[in-house]
Amino acid sequence: MVRRKLVVGNWKMHGLGADIGEIQAIAAAAAYYRAVDCGLCLPATLIERAVRAVPGFAIGAEDVHFADKGAQTGCVSTGMLTDAGATMVIVGHSERRQDQHESDGEVRAKAAAALGAGLLTILCVGESLLVREAGDAIEMVGRQLDCSLPGEVDGAKLAIAYEPIWAIGTGHTPTIDDIAEMHGSLRQRLFAAFGQAAEAIRILYGGSVKAGNAAEIFSVIDVDGALVGGASLKAADFVPIIEAAALKP
Ligand code: PEP
Repeated sequence: MVRRKLVVGNWKMHGLGADIGEIQAIAAAAAYYRAVDCGLCLPATLIERAVRAVPGFAIGAEDVHFADKGAQTGCVSTGMLTDAGATMVIVGHSERRQDQHESDGEVRAKAAAALGAGLLTILCVGESLLVREAGDAIEMVGRQLDCSLPGEVDGAKLAIAYEPIWAIGTGHTPTIDDIAEMHGSLRQRLFAAFGQAAEAIRILYGGSVKAGNAAEIFSVIDVDGALVGGASLKAADFVPIIEAAALKP
């Protein structure tokens, strides 16, 4: 099955109203690359303004709570996100797993809630440098995936992002062989979990993707796109990554 490439920016805790112009520049350029699905996951405060500024371009959130509503100070629900016009969400980013102590169980509940709300759900997994150097990355990330996956999925609405923690924002990336090995292993796990429904699930690579390495990363079998942090903040950096995805259908 040919899966359309998916390239998503993660703005993390960056972005003010003054940056809407940058979002418009990214959306305008992305429209040119019709073979690639593209979007931006933004701080909650920017979502509605961005949706209004770039109708038709996918805008998402960086996290969501699994409950519909309740006494959860500071959190947002899937209903709040869809009400604001978001069409996708990241769950289980390593910065939340580490800094907010999110467990696999919470990530699984968030993914189930997001999929239930019809959001394109980007579920992140990835190993620390310690685990990579101990030679345990394949096993640990596989286990993390198994424990974070909801029981039922619409494959077209789920993407997995393999993001080695040590590659995020560092300028370091795994070798192409290591990316290929991990993505192949994750694909096998998805088949084991969901059978043929796994065919449609896209597996993104994330961690220091930039214009200079995107084409090589996108040429790896089972790399179906990218989750991009720092290089998604400016159209001048992000658009060449989208272009690289368009050239590797
Ligand atoms: C990320 O935070 O999801 C990420 C991949 O960041 P960067 O591209 O900056 O490494």
